[in-house]
Amino acid sequence: MFIDMHIHTRYSNDSHMELEDAIVYAKDIGLDGLCVTDHESMDAQAEAATLAQKHDFLVLVGMEVLTRQGDLLIFGLEEVPRPLMDAGALVREVTWRGGIAISAHPFRNNERGLGNHINQLSQLSGIEVLNGSTLAHHNLQALHLSRKLGLPGLGGSDAHQVDRIGRYVSVFPGRIRDLQDLIQAIKAHQVQPLAFKEGMGSLSPGVFQEPAVWTPFTCPAPGSMG
Ligand SMILES: [Zn+2]
Repeated sequence: MFIDMHIHTRYSNDSHMELEDAIVYAKDIGLDGLCVTDHESMDAQAEAATLAQKHDFLVLVGMEVLTRQGDLLIFGLEEVPRPLMDAGALVREVTWRGGIAISAHPFRNNERGLGNHINQLSQLSGIEVLNGSTLAHHNLQALHLSRKLGLPGLGGSDAHQVDRIGRYVSVFPGRIRDLQDLIQAIKAHQVQPLAFKEGMGSLSPGVFQEPAVWTPFTCPAPGSMG
């Protein structure tokens, strides 16, 4: 399944995107699911449940949380953590509650990535190695670190507007029906990052683009997965 792990809706202070528009677009370009990761907010939850049913589309709600050392994508917490926690403390808390914490765009040059602090986070569940708002060489740095540490690498567009959705996604070989499936798959390393839609906005909706040349990953052809 092709899932964009990182999008921001109007519940983020820096996005006006309507979740329904995001879902319609994601379906149109051939994605199987979206993870809503608003900044320090899970306010999209009720809307996500209603719209997932209406559109028969997978919508999972996590959060992007800024810690003192950088941004984490969090799945499996029921409440927004206190502001600017220590990254290690937040990772431990999320893990203790059965969730997962993923380093978002660790090497992006906006002071919001965890960078090499990742080396000190023993319970991190994954690293976003393809982030749609990050330069390729910074994504590659993240990829190298994920390989070195043996952590799963994930892909997400970090879209704040509809036409950015799906640039990068995460590919799951198994079926993801809910948040628990997502968490289990990532814990089991059953996930790969993929450049799904390169040349943002330049492709016609519905056209699948093969992975970009620089990305070393392969994936099954669309439609061949359960
Ligand atoms: Zn983000």
